[in-house]
Amino acid sequence: MDYNSLVKPSYIKKIMDEYQFRFKKRFGQNFLVDKNILDKIVDSAELTAQHYVVEIGTGLGTLSLALAQVCAKVVTFEIDRDLAIIFREKHSKDNIVLVEEDALKADWKQVLQANGWSSQPVSLVANLPYYVTTPLVMKALEGDLDFEQIVVMVQKEVAERMLAEPGTKDYGILSLAVQYYATPTVVTQAPASVFMPAPEVDSTVVKLTPIKRETDLPAEDLFAVIRAAFSQRRKTLRNCLSSLCRQWGITNQQLLAVFAELDIEPTIRGEVLSLTQYQELTKRLLNLRISS
Ligand code: SAM
Repeated sequence: MDYNSLVKPSYIKKIMDEYQFRFKKRFGQNFLVDKNILDKIVDSAELTAQHYVVEIGTGLGTLSLALAQVCAKVVTFEIDRDLAIIFREKHSKDNIVLVEEDALKADWKQVLQANGWSSQPVSLVANLPYYVTTPLVMKALEGDLDFEQIVVMVQKEVAERMLAEPGTKDYGILSLAVQYYATPTVVTQAPASVFMPAPEVDSTVVKLTPIKRETDLPAEDLFAVIRAAFSQRRKTLRNCLSSLCRQWGITNQQLLAVFAELDIEPTIRGEVLSLTQYQELTKRLLNLRISS
C-alpha cells in the first residue's frame, strides 16, 4: 500500500465504510490527511536505513508507512483493536511491527529488543493522541532509551509551552522539563484542517533533540525545587520554597543567603527564573541539606 493513498479523505471514508469504523474521540483519533506535513515530519526526523523508530498511535498506518520507507523498522503502538485489525489486513508491511498496547504502559525498550533492536540508533516519531501528550513526552524524555530525535505533533498551545522563555505567560514546569532534557524546535504549524476529522485545536510539529547531561545534580531534586517554585503562581519565590526548605532542614535565613549569593530577589515569582538559575539554586540548597 502506498502511503500517498492514505492521506486521501476519500480513501479513509471507503475504509471506514468497509469496516464500519467510527472515530473514537476518547482516543484522540484525528488522522493526518496532508502529504506536505507528513513529508515534513518524516524529513525532520533525519532517519537512515539503520534507524529504528518508535511510533505512538498507528491509526490507519499513514505515518508508519511513510517512516518505513526510510528506516530499518517501525515499532508502532496502537490502543484501538479496530484500527489494529484494519492495519493488519490492509496496510501492513514487513518492516512495521504493530504492537496492540497502551503506549503509556508499554515497556518500549523491551518491545524494541523483542523486535531485533540492540544498539541501532532509535528515534520517536508520532502524531500524538492529545489527551496523553505530556505523560508520553515525559516518558520519552526521562526513559531508558537514548532517542536520537523525538518528533511529535502536539496541540499548538502545548508546543508554545514547551518552547517558552522565562518571564512569558506560557513558561512553566513543562517548558523547564522539556528544555532540561532536550532542545525544542518548531518543524511546522498544522492547522486543524490537515486532519480528518478536524480537531477543535490547531497543532504544531516539534522536534526535541535530547541533550546528554553530564551532571551530578539529581533531576529529581531539581524538579522538586521547580515544582515547589510553581506551586502557587501568585506567591513569591521565597514563600513557594518555604515548605520544601523546611522539609530539607533549611532555615529561612539560609534560603535568603542563597538568594543573595545568586543575586535573586526573594520577592520575585518562580516564572522568571531560567533553567540555569534553577540548577544553581538547587545545587546550593542541596549543599545545605546535605550538611544540615
Ligand atoms: N498516526 C496516525 C496518523 O498520523 O494519522 C494516527 C494519529 S491519531 C492523532 C492518534 C492515534 O493514537 C489513534 O490511532 C489512537 O487510537 C491512538 N492512541 C490513542 N491513545 C493511545 C495510547 N495510549 N497508546 C497507543 N495508541 C493510542
